[in-house]
Amino acid sequence: MSYPVVVEMDLREATSELHMVWSDGHRSRFALTYLRGWCPCARCQGHFTEKKVFIPSPGVRLLDVQPVGNYAFQPSWSDGHTTGIYAFDYLREIDAAPPSEGPTNAECLAVK
Ligand SMILES: [Zn+2]
Repeated sequence: MSYPVVVEMDLREATSELHMVWSDGHRSRFALTYLRGWCPCARCQGHFTEKKVFIPSPGVRLLDVQPVGNYAFQPSWSDGHTTGIYAFDYLREIDAAPPSEGPTNAECLAVK
């Protein structure tokens, strides 16, 4: 089984965006507030809900990104949060649309 992976990541601090290039040629342009807001970790999401919760984080900055195996990455955010592991398939999912009802990437890009 093969699935797209991120081959390039480019943090644009001036505009608070994280750009990605994928192995299948797809390009993503995420607002940092969108990525932080839809953090998939249990601390943000709780353990018992199906529906994802958006965590508003205005002005959040990305301090560091560590790869997790070859299927995910783990960001360190300026609000001190570091437990989110973003699998590549989750990133592609939220690139297309928010995982639950809530802010879209386009809305977050417009506000920051
Ligand atoms: Zn989280």
